[in-house]
Amino acid sequence: MAQIIDGKAISSLIKDELKEKVSNLKAQGKETTLAVIQVGADPASTVYVGNKKKACEYIGINSLAYELPEETGEDELLNLIAELNARKDVNGILVQLPLPEHIDEDKVIKSIAPAKDVDGFHPQNVGALCIGEPGFVSCTPAGIIELLKRSGIEIEGKECVVVGRSNIVGKPMALLLLRENGTVTVAHSKTENLKEITKRADIFVAAVGKPKMITREYVKEGAVVIDVGIHRMENKKLCGDVDYEDVEPICSAITPVPGGVGPMTIAMLMHNCVESLNLQEG
Ligand code: NDP
Repeated sequence: MAQIIDGKAISSLIKDELKEKVSNLKAQGKETTLAVIQVGADPASTVYVGNKKKACEYIGINSLAYELPEETGEDELLNLIAELNARKDVNGILVQLPLPEHIDEDKVIKSIAPAKDVDGFHPQNVGALCIGEPGFVSCTPAGIIELLKRSGIEIEGKECVVVGRSNIVGKPMALLLLRENGTVTVAHSKTENLKEITKRADIFVAAVGKPKMITREYVKEGAVVIDVGIHRMENKKLCGDVDYEDVEPICSAITPVPGGVGPMTIAMLMHNCVESLNLQEG
């Protein structure tokens, strides 16, 4: 039987730890404030933004909500970000993605002050991760490292394969595993002989964005399998990039969907918000 890595329980633990930290900071007169900007009313984004606000409330982080209409112009959004960058009482700025097509996402990401970029998407933070300097790390991959560590899974010296090379998951995931002394391979849609490569993995991270693509043919017996994917199936249930029923019997540990990687993303966002105080003071 595989160890089921309980992201819900681990994320609750992290949120409780953060709650205590925030309360200690408050006792020293230090408040943490996150500004969350949503442009348009994409239903999935509204759910994500709502969950982020709820988490802030639980932990004691102040949240400022900016719900802008779909037709908001790029300049208007950039002006708001500039205003928030300049405000001393705002520690973190998060712009919910995706943005409407008429707004250049890259330009928006680059306009957030790196010291307030709690999503860890700004090129300066990505560069800092690359060369091992302090900075914000993209929340989903940072959450996966926490899941592994808190589940007692050793990364050092292990063969790690990440399938997916997006800027927000695959690439930072590979860098973090490398920072933890894993031996890392990154595979993508142009990779040849994918199954041969993934079968080498002691730690297999699936961030492909294809429902149930990863079956046991891709997985070495006894591997640790981390499933980043989230998909809503026709029967309304959620599934991941991994075919859980097929893979679970042959691996040593696995994250379920839901309840695995998903809850960790918000927990790490909250962690970054609290860290933002230190980064700004430093
Ligand atoms: P992207 O679509 O940006 O990236 C997918 C990656 O998978 C690309 O690098 C692509 O390769 C690669 N890929 C696609 N098809 C194949 C294939 N057949 N074989 C090998 N590689 C392939 O997705 P994201 O990284 O943003 O997200 C991945 C998944 O994780 C999605 O399901 C998303 O919903 C989920 N997600 C979950 C989060 C959470 O909190 N749990 C947070 C963020 C994402 P190429 O580069 O060559 O195109």
